[in-house]
Amino acid sequence: MHMTSKLAKLGLFDAKVPRYTSYPTAPQFNADVGGAQMQAWVRSIAPGSQISLYLHIPFCRHLCWFCACRTQGTQSLSPVAGYLERLRTEIALLGQNLPHGVTLSRMHWGGGTPTLLSPDMIDELAAAITAVAPLAEGAEFSVEVDPKEIDSARVAALARAGMTRASIGVQDFDPEVQTTIGRLQGFDVTRDAAQLLRSAQITSLNADILFGLPHQDTARIATSVQKLLTLNPDRIALYGYAHVPWMARRQSMIPTESLPTPERRLKLFETAKQLFEWDGYQQIGIDHFAAPHDSLAIAARTGYLRRNFQGYTDDPADVLIGLGASAISRFPQGYAQNAAATSDYAKSIDAGRFAVSRGHAFSAEDQLRARIIEAIMCDFYVSYDDVIARFPQASGQIRQLLQNASERFGEMVQLTEDGLRIRQEAQALARIIARHFDAYALSGAGHATAI
Ligand code: SF4
Repeated sequence: MHMTSKLAKLGLFDAKVPRYTSYPTAPQFNADVGGAQMQAWVRSIAPGSQISLYLHIPFCRHLCWFCACRTQGTQSLSPVAGYLERLRTEIALLGQNLPHGVTLSRMHWGGGTPTLLSPDMIDELAAAITAVAPLAEGAEFSVEVDPKEIDSARVAALARAGMTRASIGVQDFDPEVQTTIGRLQGFDVTRDAAQLLRSAQITSLNADILFGLPHQDTARIATSVQKLLTLNPDRIALYGYAHVPWMARRQSMIPTESLPTPERRLKLFETAKQLFEWDGYQQIGIDHFAAPHDSLAIAARTGYLRRNFQGYTDDPADVLIGLGASAISRFPQGYAQNAAATSDYAKSIDAGRFAVSRGHAFSAEDQLRARIIEAIMCDFYVSYDDVIARFPQASGQIRQLLQNASERFGEMVQLTEDGLRIRQEAQALARIIARHFDAYALSGAGHATAI
């Protein structure tokens, strides 16, 4: 049987599975975790340790139709100013509970459009964070940059704040694709933004590009990739467009008949991947590519790659604190997510409480399965030694789980006495194989197809 048919038989073109940026996945979170739990987990952080911080800015000047992010459109900065006031209060609340001497190994500002903030707003926000937890030496501070929403004053403010890496949204350069997804952004605008950032010594650049967009074909995605490569990004995220208009209503502006079939999506991914690899980029996990010198590529080569809400990271910290509406924190004990609606978020912060509305406290079983799923998503390989070293009391269960997966996926995987490896030609099945280790029931409605 042809390989594509074998992948299809295992559900590649019709299974709806999570991207496993966390385990358990966010739909499994419940109201048992709230502000008091968050406070206890923050207080349990080791004094003097390094943690990561994520700040969510849920505002955009213009709402793109394809985007499923929780964000609201605004033409003025006044709602943003009110939100930032709450964010600074939340940062101060964090500071009151954070043990002494904690610093940041990583900080990421995402959204929404963080570059919507004025230079003064950037300065104030950065000062509020530094007062509570300064960046550690050698820390990485990344910001999602909308090329249409950046200028030299804002770049200078971000550079003053210590920004080291920019993440530029591209999606696709083709005019028809851009018109259909409601995001017009000429190549020159993206190129100028990259130059502006580099001239401010923000030399590490990430770019996001999408496959599976309306009207995309292999020639169009090849042209977009080639244009992107002229900007020399250090990292590229090649995400599959997830068409879920029942969850993201803006997407109903995109005609379903303009979308490529799952089979064509696989071809689009393979076309872009081949071009990146020909240009010397290394594939990282299921959907990232990095230049060989980039720290993500080094982490992948040396076995330190990790999965997180932003995709992949080389961040060694085991605590990530998410601030702002809908942001998710991860502690060794579990996940805590802030209220998604900015009004609910504001109400809790104004009352002097952490705004957590739901989360999940890990069981030992969760941690075991989370490690196996992370290894699949990062390395396409689960090492017995690695998992047994972390969970020595569960060695029998680990062997049984891998044995079951080997029986389920047959020739797509290779089970040896060292562990379970997904064959290179079958790596597109990673999310489906990860799903096999997920003990929770999935509705399927909230997830896009496996490719
Ligand atoms: S793609 Fe970016 S700018 Fe467009 S709606 Fe989403 S977050 Fe906002």
